[in-house]
Amino acid sequence: AYAESPRLFLGDRANKKLTYPEDFAPAERVGFGVDTHAFGEGDHVTLCGVKIPSARGLIAHSDGDAAVHALMDAMLSAAGMRDIGYYFPDTDDRFAGANSMKLLQEVVGMLREKNLRVKNASVSIVAERPRLAPYIEEMKYTLSEALGTDVSCVGVAAGTNEKLGYVGEGKGITCFATVLLFQYN
Ligand code: MG
Repeated sequence: AYAESPRLFLGDRANKKLTYPEDFAPAERVGFGVDTHAFGEGDHVTLCGVKIPSARGLIAHSDGDAAVHALMDAMLSAAGMRDIGYYFPDTDDRFAGANSMKLLQEVVGMLREKNLRVKNASVSIVAERPRLAPYIEEMKYTLSEALGTDVSCVGVAAGTNEKLGYVGEGKGITCFATVLLFQYN
């Protein structure tokens, strides 16, 4: 018999019992995505699910939300899956004019099937115009709602390209996204 009685401790994710092969799977996975769209006709752009007045729109088969497209590619890449062009081909009329936030929710569901969820996400938008600063908070909130995270787990940055290259000439915009996924059981 033991002299001491059993004691309870708070759990710690780092102290996970390793028994089955899946227990050895990496608990966290990082991913990166990038997307570019050219300016064309239109009176608004949609970025991070937020509609923003603009002298020109973005040419796209979907709503042209390059920020969400970059984020979806980062998520799929982190999960070791194919890219958005594979799952949502622009040759498929089902995705014509598609609301990219709906596609993002589909990606969230695809990851959930693998027990993967977003821990935090970071999006960077490079655009000479329109001015995005007034919309950043709404973008963060909109993305966090779709990802099922706290708004503090989503970062959105926006900057110009200092008038250099195609972005600087106002021909298009490029977005980058990094994401950290975690696996839950
Ligand atoms: Mg795209």
